[in-house]
Amino acid sequence: MKIQMQVIEVINPCNGEVVGVCPRATENDAAKSIEAAHEAFKKWKKVSVAERVKLQHKAAEGMRKHAEELAQIIANELGRPIAGCLTEISRSADLLDFYAEEGLRLKGEIPLHNIEGEKALIIREPIGVVVSITPFNYPITLLTMKLGAALVAGCTVVAKPSEDTPLSTVRLGQIFEEVGYPENVFKVITGYGHEIGHTLIEHPLVSKIAFTGGTNTGKRIGQAAAAHNKRITLELGGQSPAVVCADANIEVAAAAIVRHGFANSGQFCYRVNRVYVHASIYELFVDKMVELAQKLTLGSPFSGCDMGPIINQKIYQNSEVQVADALEKGASIRTGGKRLTGELYDKGWFFPPTIVADANHSMKVMTEETFGPVIGVMPFNSNDEAITLANDSEYGLAAYVFSENLAIALRMAESFEAGSVWINNIHRSYHDVPFGGVKQSGMGREKGRYGIEAYTELKTIYLNY
Ligand code: NAD
Repeated sequence: MKIQMQVIEVINPCNGEVVGVCPRATENDAAKSIEAAHEAFKKWKKVSVAERVKLQHKAAEGMRKHAEELAQIIANELGRPIAGCLTEISRSADLLDFYAEEGLRLKGEIPLHNIEGEKALIIREPIGVVVSITPFNYPITLLTMKLGAALVAGCTVVAKPSEDTPLSTVRLGQIFEEVGYPENVFKVITGYGHEIGHTLIEHPLVSKIAFTGGTNTGKRIGQAAAAHNKRITLELGGQSPAVVCADANIEVAAAAIVRHGFANSGQFCYRVNRVYVHASIYELFVDKMVELAQKLTLGSPFSGCDMGPIINQKIYQNSEVQVADALEKGASIRTGGKRLTGELYDKGWFFPPTIVADANHSMKVMTEETFGPVIGVMPFNSNDEAITLANDSEYGLAAYVFSENLAIALRMAESFEAGSVWINNIHRSYHDVPFGGVKQSGMGREKGRYGIEAYTELKTIYLNY
């Protein structure tokens, strides 16, 4: 009798249609993937760095060659406008190139304190099999942040993408094969986290878990990893504040906050979630935000619009719950606030850009991660008060400050409890600087040389000759 393979149906969040299927792996499949990656590691760690670097540049080229195809897959499984998906691919390919070059600079040390022919060599070794577990919202970016560093350092990787957006990762795995990566150096396994997660984390042949996702999932993974002494990097949730000082350039600040807060329909870990505006410019600033937010258009990824739908009902509900909670506690919804309906929207989870004014810290919108297009705004009277409000959060992924006075802005940046702070603009993050959170937003850093070092272990060799 033929046993039918179980599959996961991947749904287009714009219209509820199935856009593809992928295997629903079992614990046995997970164990086999890890064992295969471990066999591959024995050879991969001995491949010269020059060869690993060459292959990684080829993988980046492969991504560029298939950029349209990969972007379309992301657009269909995630619903994000196609232009943003193309940017995700090109930036991820650049990140692979960056890590490849940085891999050439990975070095050990020889300390100077030699005594009569004794010497110590400090060398770096790849740590082994890495399990990458990633969320739905930037499926390729968040994977390449781990993959590019791990592979060039000499580790092998088993990647488990989100069950909502696995198809782009599956295709990326094929591209790596096509450009010549040895079998099982980069292995993709698709399945539900709650079904195969514990095998992926606890298997004795796994050395490190590199996780990006929700804080609660991260806590569970961290606990399981700690019980088995596995190394971990945790990139978790955020609830990032932006402070707009009395002397800020209002046009610049409002444009940056609206653009960033509603990017990817608010499904963005370090998006601006809450805004504190000096009381003297508060009404003016809220009006400016509303004006800009109302210009944003929603629709399918291929319609030239600015925003797509929310990935699924569960994530969508955060926005509705936060709006209802804020209204009940006295806030005012200046724009948005209700699910869009009509022929274009009825089959997807379309929530418009929403600005909740007169918010305060009794409201969920100011304290809980939304992961949707809702921004809370409240006034403040002194810069010290703004710092206290910004830090009044269990999260610490990112923070933003807008002021024409560099001394004020720097003091705030230093005072914020956050892994990254942006002053007077909100850029994407650069490849050569570290990214990660403090408090409940995670531990460890990705990108830059720190990102690669996290996939190596130091070994000290004492010489006596
Ligand atoms: P999620 O935590 O629900 O899922 C993330 C991944 O974990 C998925 O692949 C899922 O299958 C897997 N998973 C779930 N349960 C598991 C278990 N028990 N064991 C092992 N794996 C398990 O997150 P999501 O809804 O896909 O993504 C949204 C969250 O991700 C938000 O909280 C967001 O802030 C966070 N995020 C953080 C960053 C960052 O860099 N800090 C970046 C993007 C997203």
